Amino acid sequence: MQKPVPSGRALVPFVSVENMARLITSIGLPRLLTELVDYIEQDFLRWQSFEKSPRLASHSEGGVIELMPTSDHVNYVFKYVNGHPVNLQRNLQTVVAFGVLSDVETGYPLLLTEMTLLTALRTAATSAMVARLLAPKDARVLALIGNGAQAEFQAIAMQTICGIEEVRLYDIDPAATAKTARNLAQTGLRIAECKSVEEAVLGAQIITTCTADKQNATILTDNLVGDGVHINAIGGDCPGKTELAAAILNRSDVFVEFPPQTRIEGEIQQMPEDFPVTELWQVLNGERPGRVSDRQITLFDSVGFAIEDFSAVRYIRDKIRDTDFKEDLDLLADPDDTRDLYGMMGRIAGARDEGAAR
Ligand code: NAD
Repeated sequence: MQKPVPSGRALVPFVSVENMARLITSIGLPRLLTELVDYIEQDFLRWQSFEKSPRLASHSEGGVIELMPTSDHVNYVFKYVNGHPVNLQRNLQTVVAFGVLSDVETGYPLLLTEMTLLTALRTAATSAMVARLLAPKDARVLALIGNGAQAEFQAIAMQTICGIEEVRLYDIDPAATAKTARNLAQTGLRIAECKSVEEAVLGAQIITTCTADKQNATILTDNLVGDGVHINAIGGDCPGKTELAAAILNRSDVFVEFPPQTRIEGEIQQMPEDFPVTELWQVLNGERPGRVSDRQITLFDSVGFAIEDFSAVRYIRDKIRDTDFKEDLDLLADPDDTRDLYGMMGRIAGARDEGAAR
């Protein structure tokens, strides 16, 4: 994977946004999401092999910057990601991210990758993996509330993995809904552009809330949630940022990624500390029940967990092998004489100055 630069130093593969977009297009989104669900599922099924901690968050008035690390003792992955709902007014992304995969044995980074697109992919793949597990088996209609950057990925994942045929869109900004409808026009999904949340949830068996607002919002009120639906709540992912009325949580069976993180960041931050939740990995491995009745409301209180990023970066590492969907990055000093970092610095700068003088 690594090849030396002239000075003998190793190069680190780097997947830029451009190469990520090319890679996604070359694989095709439905196939990619299907494969990514498999990767995430494999890692959830070996949950106990991972080092786990809630992410390290630095909060400010308009948003949060987070580091999300995990390791399976062979590889270590961390993601840098922000969440700034306020950015929408500045014409900037709410969520941007990049990540690193390293070799645990040496500590050397093996891959640096953009993760803004990759976060949208892994979030959609996780939503669909969980909906396949918990939503009614005959679910064909998805209500998608919040039609921003994540929206199309969510819709296509639910179509590919769960057999969704119709997506009912709602956003407070009709331009966002129009954009999403336009982007989904060629997917074969039936699209309804709705004027209210009430209209969007009509006939939907899966409701995804995917809005960005740094407050305890009530995107979905209790009276709009009928028995038997599956709720995929992904926008409430930070302290002081929720989307659902507490009454919905009281009527639902709540499923989470990693309770110590979700209790701080998820919808359940509104509830008492001992509010009962089920960990998804235990439903996946058959230890705990998922959907047990037609009338049950299942709720995935998604906040995004480091193991999903680990799976996503692992997937990209496998996919870029022997392709040109990467560049080589001069990121590691790694001098030939490992103790002569100082000498290496002088030789590199000297060689460069010599080259410029020629
Ligand atoms: P975005 O800013 O691109 O889009 C958010 C959309 O929500 C905007 O179109 C906005 O108009 C709309 N919106 C805001 N308030 C609304 C309301 N009351 N009703 C309806 N629509 C409303 O953001 P994004 O990248 O699509 O992310 C959406 C949310 O998902 C963010 O809160 C983000 O932090 C979160 N997120 C969660 C995960 C996870 O793993 N759980 C992963 C990625 C993003």
